[in-house]
Amino acid sequence: MKKNSFKLLWHYLRNDKLKIIIYIFLILLNYLPSLISAYFWGKALEYLILKDMTNFSIYLLVWTAIYIIFYTFLQVPTQKIYNYLSTKFMRNVSYDLYKKIDNLPSIAFEEIGVGEFVNRLYDDIDRIMTLLAQLVKLICQSIVVIFVFILSFSISIYLGAELVIFSLIMGLISYNFFPKIKETQKEIKSEVDGYIKNATENITGIREIKALGIKKNIEVSIFKRLNNLFKHNKKIKNYETTYYSLNNLIYFILQFAILLTCGYFVIEGKVEYSVFIMLDMYIWRVDNVVENLSDFGVNYSKVKVSLSRLDELINNRLYKDEEFGNVTLNDIKGIIEFKDVCFKYRDNEPYALKNLNLKIEPNRKVAIIGRSGNGKSTIFNLLLRYFDVNEGIIEIDGVNIKDLTEKSLRDSISIIRQSPYLFNMSIKDNFKLVKKDVTLTEIRKYCQNAYIDDYIMSLPKKYDTIIGEGGINLSGGQKQRLAIARTLMLNTKIILFDEATSALDNESQEYIKRSIDNLVKDHTVIIVAHRLSTIIDADLIHVINEGHLESTGTHKELLNNSDLYKKLYNNEE
Ligand code: ADP
Ligand code: MG
Repeated sequence: MKKNSFKLLWHYLRNDKLKIIIYIFLILLNYLPSLISAYFWGKALEYLILKDMTNFSIYLLVWTAIYIIFYTFLQVPTQKIYNYLSTKFMRNVSYDLYKKIDNLPSIAFEEIGVGEFVNRLYDDIDRIMTLLAQLVKLICQSIVVIFVFILSFSISIYLGAELVIFSLIMGLISYNFFPKIKETQKEIKSEVDGYIKNATENITGIREIKALGIKKNIEVSIFKRLNNLFKHNKKIKNYETTYYSLNNLIYFILQFAILLTCGYFVIEGKVEYSVFIMLDMYIWRVDNVVENLSDFGVNYSKVKVSLSRLDELINNRLYKDEEFGNVTLNDIKGIIEFKDVCFKYRDNEPYALKNLNLKIEPNRKVAIIGRSGNGKSTIFNLLLRYFDVNEGIIEIDGVNIKDLTEKSLRDSISIIRQSPYLFNMSIKDNFKLVKKDVTLTEIRKYCQNAYIDDYIMSLPKKYDTIIGEGGINLSGGQKQRLAIARTLMLNTKIILFDEATSALDNESQEYIKRSIDNLVKDHTVIIVAHRLSTIIDADLIHVINEGHLESTGTHKELLNNSDLYKKLYNNEE
């Protein structure tokens, strides 16, 4: 394991050093009875054979007492400490990781899938914790096994040698089988995931599938998946069966050899009968530890991956945190200027914006139009600093946006997209999440201005209606109007609309147009629109072509001056 990964683990555990030491100590105590109890058990049997009831019952009692004390009384505090340590570890790592992901630059989410982040959030941490617990156990079990070795060697060098050979053979078997078993288990897990994902998608899209007449094809592909899955499953089961029977066979043969040797020494009078009993009770432990060692080896290599992934994120090895400046904007006017901005999403891709120069004044309705894929949304992405320019600068009120604090930037700009993100909670709580102390009267006022209050009031639960999963499904237009109401509450100076009205019915479009017109008076409003009808009355229209500004003007002016605008306009008619 890399040193860094250890450091990361230690960072989370170091505040609980004392607890960890006590925990390890208690675990060791837990293993103690198995070390000493065998001796008392052997003694009890010796006296039983001699028909000495008194001594037999004394040893039996001691043997039982040891178990009671160590296994029942000690186990509770041990487990409690473990629970404390693991809960705290899991919580802290998970929380730090979540915060880290929150602060990653947007590019990270382009490159790493959401599924993988979620996986990192939970599975990786869980795996690490499990391995830590396994490690402690393994250390303690090994101590027992070392004792068995010492015991065997002290009886006779032959016995000791036999035990060494025994362990080596058992180790070799599990070393060969375990990784393969684990590997196949992993494959099965990913096949199960794939099957569930596939089946869910198909069932969700069942209408589409029926309409396309491809039910049979889908069934065939599902059968293939299931067939693969269960073929693998059978393979691993057979593999396991072979492993365990082989393991048992060798185990019994070796056990025979060892006990035979030890028995010989008992008959020769060189060791006590109770030692024989002890050895008999310990041998399986050796097998156990050997098996656990192999298992640990496999888990360890997986945890190494998990740990380095955690380390990558928590210690910013892949991405830097988003960086903001320390300038605060007071009394923002809302003048936006792009100066010679060049930007591409990835090094090997063409420029999305090339030498873009653009100035946008407040209190007027400004539109940006252009063909799809020509960089309109990119302009917004840069303004919001989801990505940073490669060349040039972007200013708000003459300040480079890189110099603004995150709060200043977020308090200045809001954006409304085609499908706004609303949280799976009540309508009222969606507002309160953004502004804790907002009252229902205020919320209603914002909603009235966004022309959505009437609809909400017509719902049985009104503003307590839950949105999304388990609640109502709002139409695109209704979601958008709610998003506008939320923006009105935020009251940012700059408001961006990205294709907000593209997919809407005429009525919703009209409502949204009206609320935009209300906003224009004292905001900087920029509208990216596909349908030109919504922006024909804009005070100023910027036409973007392949990442740069082609022309600027009003609708009338552009119809005369810009071929591109004319084409875009006519296409729609
Ligand atoms: P518009 O909004 O005008 O339709 P965009 O600004 O979304 O266009 O896209 C401009 C160019 O940048 C397109 O070529 C598009 O493929 C590319 N692009 C947009 N978003 C990303 C992204 N997240 N990653 C990589 N390329 C992108
Ligand atoms: Mg776009």
